Amino acid sequence: MSLLELNNISFAYSKVNGFNLSEINLKIEDGNFVSIIGPNGSGKSTLLKLISNYLQPESGYIKLNGKNYKKFGRREFAREVAFVSQNSFSIFPFSVYEIVMMGRNPYLGFSGFENKSDRKKVLDALEKVGILHLKNKGINEISGGEAQRAFIARALVQEPKLILLDEPNAHLDIKHQIAVFGILKNLQINEDVTVITVSHDLNLAASYSDKVILLKSGNLLMFDSTENIFTKENIKDVFEVESEITKSNVSNEISIKILPS
Ligand code: ADP
Ligand code: MG
Repeated sequence: MSLLELNNISFAYSKVNGFNLSEINLKIEDGNFVSIIGPNGSGKSTLLKLISNYLQPESGYIKLNGKNYKKFGRREFAREVAFVSQNSFSIFPFSVYEIVMMGRNPYLGFSGFENKSDRKKVLDALEKVGILHLKNKGINEISGGEAQRAFIARALVQEPKLILLDEPNAHLDIKHQIAVFGILKNLQINEDVTVITVSHDLNLAASYSDKVILLKSGNLLMFDSTENIFTKENIKDVFEVESEITKSNVSNEISIKILPS
């Protein structure tokens, strides 16, 4: 049985016209690292929001471990699936520590108070993403990249089975991009967490993913291995640019060079 199953999912923001995702079928295996790629407006965030249960499909169903999303309670779902959205922000001046502690909510007992183990998990996650020194700062008083890492830490303390991220690298410098993907890879390998991330960076997607979802205009064109996805033809078809694909004969790693037009 797959960890995640999307069966004939359709979704539109407006009934009248415009964008829609149609008849998406997808099965993602437990413990995989999956990237979603496609041009702006192709529906990457929409697909991720459906998988995160933030949006609900018009037709079709989604199952996690064989259980329909509609049968999950809110807390129960939050113990299984964590979502780091594209522009996470807080309108309230919570501290970084408080934001991350919110990830423990689905585990807190009837009293609603955190215990020593919750506090340790929060501090460990802050350490992991490299912002322990910022724990007492207001979430609105740190840089976009630092806040992004705080929201990733919040997802980590949720101890999810499935972690969803929408362009987690958008505000990060190169060092922290690698660090975040390293953390995700580590979760996948050592804790059997399934990772689904939207990525703008084709090379990062190629190096870290087991499989890649290719979207264009709301259609799922392909769901396949990095090797089958990253071809000159596919890049041209979807992104409308010329590219050069090379494969290292040492590591088997694929790299994509976009050629100037
Ligand atoms: P991507 O993440 O691939 O850039 P999105 O999933 O965000 O694409 O958006 C897909 C399409 O849906 C775009 O045309 C966008 O304008 C439209 N869209 C996104 N969010 C909304 C919304 N809340 N209401 C109406 N249209 C939306
Ligand atoms: Mg998006």
